[in-house]
Amino acid sequence: MNKPLRTEIRASACPHDCPSTCALEVEVLDGRSIGRVRGAEDNLYTAGVICAKVARYAERIHHPDRLLHPLIRKGPKGSGQFTPIAWDDALDLVAEKFLAAEAKHGSETVWPYYYAGTMGLIMRDGINRLRHVKKYSGFHSTICVNPAWTGFIAGTGKLAGPDPREMARSDLVVIWGTNPVNTQVNVMTHATRARKERGAKIVAVDIYQNGTMEQADLAVLVRPGTDGALACAVMHCLFRDGFADREYLEKYTDAPRELEEHVRSRSPEWASKITGCPVETIEAFAKLVAERKRTYFRLGYGFGRSRNGTTNMHAASCIAAVRGSWALEGGGAFHNNGAIYHWNKTITEALDAVDPSIRVLDQSRIGPILVGEPDALVKDIPVTALLIQNTNPVSVAPEQEKVKRGFARDDLFTCVHEQFMTETAQMADVVLPASMFMEHDDLYQGGGHQYIQLGPKLIEPPGECRSNHDVLAGLAKRLGAKHPGFEMTPRQLIDRLLGDSGWGTLAELEAKKWIDAQPDFDTAHYTKGFAWPDGKFRFKPDWKTVPFRSPWLAGPVDTMPALPDHWEVIEEATPEHPFRLGTSPARNFLNSTFNETPTSLAREQRPTVMIHPEDAAKLGIADGDKVVLGNTRGEVRIHAKHFDGVRRGVLIAESIWPNSAYEDGKGINTLTGADAIAPYGGAAFHDNRVWIRRD
Ligand code: SF4
Repeated sequence: MNKPLRTEIRASACPHDCPSTCALEVEVLDGRSIGRVRGAEDNLYTAGVICAKVARYAERIHHPDRLLHPLIRKGPKGSGQFTPIAWDDALDLVAEKFLAAEAKHGSETVWPYYYAGTMGLIMRDGINRLRHVKKYSGFHSTICVNPAWTGFIAGTGKLAGPDPREMARSDLVVIWGTNPVNTQVNVMTHATRARKERGAKIVAVDIYQNGTMEQADLAVLVRPGTDGALACAVMHCLFRDGFADREYLEKYTDAPRELEEHVRSRSPEWASKITGCPVETIEAFAKLVAERKRTYFRLGYGFGRSRNGTTNMHAASCIAAVRGSWALEGGGAFHNNGAIYHWNKTITEALDAVDPSIRVLDQSRIGPILVGEPDALVKDIPVTALLIQNTNPVSVAPEQEKVKRGFARDDLFTCVHEQFMTETAQMADVVLPASMFMEHDDLYQGGGHQYIQLGPKLIEPPGECRSNHDVLAGLAKRLGAKHPGFEMTPRQLIDRLLGDSGWGTLAELEAKKWIDAQPDFDTAHYTKGFAWPDGKFRFKPDWKTVPFRSPWLAGPVDTMPALPDHWEVIEEATPEHPFRLGTSPARNFLNSTFNETPTSLAREQRPTVMIHPEDAAKLGIADGDKVVLGNTRGEVRIHAKHFDGVRRGVLIAESIWPNSAYEDGKGINTLTGADAIAPYGGAAFHDNRVWIRRD
C-alpha cells in the first residue's frame, strides 16, 4: 500500500495580473508538489474565495510542458528548433550579445521588456535594476493601467479610495467596466454580501451581458467607448432631480456650477443615442444612485482600454462627487490602491542609478518600435537586443503583424525567460526556464484591496528553472552591472524593501502573514480634502499635469474635453467598417496565462466572436459559422456565436487565445491598434472598428 502523502498547508499570495491578489492556502505534498489551492478564510478581503483557475494551480505548476532547461535556437527564427545549452553558457552568450549591441549602437539599443506575468515586487521589478544601472532603454508600462489610473487620479489627485471591504456596507454597488465574475472574484463576494445583509442593489455597466451583468439587479449595456456619455446623463439626472449634494459640491469640488451647466444638455435621451442604452435604463440607474447615497462605485480597467478611456474613467468617478457619496461609509469611488503603499524601491529597482537622459519606450508600441517607426523609437537608435521576463507580447501586444515582423528581424537578439514555450519564446534566440511563484520568495501588494502579502518559496522548481532574480544577478555579473541589490537574496531584498518603506521587517511579516495597509476613514474618503493643494476634487482637470508617471504626453491631448463628456475620438464604425470590436477577458484565461492548461482550454473550447443574432441574420452568418474579421491592420479567422447580450453593431471576442488557435496563426490582436491613448499612453483593446463576413 502506498504511504499517504504528508500534507502541509502553507500561506501564499496569488501573483497573477488580477487586482484581487488573493491570499492563498496551499496544500504542499511531501514538501515536493502542491495539491489544492484555497482562498485564505482569515484574510478579510479574500474571505476564502478564489477563482477556479488558481484553485487548480497544480495543473499549471506541474504541467508536462514546463520549460526545464536553457535552450538556444538552432533553426530559423520562429521555427521552434532549439537545443539545450548549459546555464553558464547561455548567460555568457546573452551577456556577450548585449555587450556587442551596446558597443555598436550605445546602451539604449538594449530594451529590457517585462510585465505582470508575476506581480511580485522582487521578481517583476528587478529587471529595472539592470536597466537603470546599465542605462538600457526605459520601459513605460502602458498596456494595462495607464488610461484608467490617469482618469481616476485626474479627479481625486491620488490613486486610492475607500476600503474595498466597505462594499459590503453599501446600499448600492456599481461595478463599472470590469467583470469580476471572470477576473477578480472577491468584488462579487463583498457586493453580494451587501445585497444579502442590507438589501443593497448591484448595478453593472459593461459592453456585453457577461457573468457579472447577469448577477446584477440592473445591467446597463452600453456600446464600447461611450461610458462618458452614460456618466454625464446620470449626473444630469442628479442635478435635475435635486439629488446633487450642493453642500458637498461647494466644499469639496472645483467647478460644480460649470459642471451643472455643462451636463444640462447631456440628458438620458442624448446619452441613449450614443450608448445604445434605453432612456429608461439610464433613468433607472440614476434613480438608484439618487435613492441610495451610500453608493460604492467599483471602477474597473476595461472601459479605460479605449481611445477616450481616460476621460471615461474620470467621468464615472465624478458621479460620486456630485452625489456626495464619498462622505459615507460604503460610499465613494474606488479603482486601485496603488498610492497607499509608499514603497521606496531604490534597492529593488536601483532608483539611485536613474539617468533621465535615457530614452523611455512605450510597452504598448513594441510593434512599431521593433519595425523601426521613428516616432515610436523616440531616438534614432534601433532596438537590437531584448531581455523579456513575465510577458508574451507576440500574443498580447496590439498591432500583432508589426510585433511579429519585428521579432523576426535577423539583426535583433532576443532572450526570453519563461515558464512555457510561449509564442514570444518561440521567436527567441535564447530561452531560459523560469520558476513559478511557489518556487521562489516574493512580496505582493493588493491593487483591489489593501494588503501587503508574502509569497514564500514552498517547493523546489523543476529541472533547471531559475527565478528572475537569479537570472538578473547572473547577467549583472557578466555585464559589469554593480548594485547592492544584485548581491542580495530575495528574502534580503524583501526585508530591505519593507524596512525602507516603513513596513517593518520580513520576520514581522512572516509572523502576521499580511499587513493591512488601509488608511483611516478620513484619508480614504478624503473628508479633509482631496489630494490637490486646494483639497478640491477636479471636475476640470488639467490633463497635461495629472500627477501620474509619464515620460511624455501621448495622443490628441489638446482636444481632451475640459469637463466630463463623451469624447468622440474612438474608432467609430464607418460604412466600410460597420462594427465595433471589444476583446474582453475570458473566464479561464488571464491574458495569455492559463492558455496552456488543459481545463482552461477545454472550458473555453475555441476562439469565438459574439454577434447579435439580428446582425448575423442580415449578413447570412449562422451560429458557429467561420467568419473573417478585418480592418486596416489585418484579418482574423474565427467562429461566430450568436448572442443577444451585445448591442447591435458590437462584436466581442473573449481572449486571449494563442495565435496558433486561429486557422492561419493570426490572433485577435492582429486587429487592435498600437496608437497611444491620451494623455499618457495605453492600448485601446476594446476600441476597434472592423468588418465581418462569412469565410
Ligand atoms: S481571482 Fe485573481 S488574484 Fe484571486 S486567485 Fe484568481 S487570478 Fe489570483
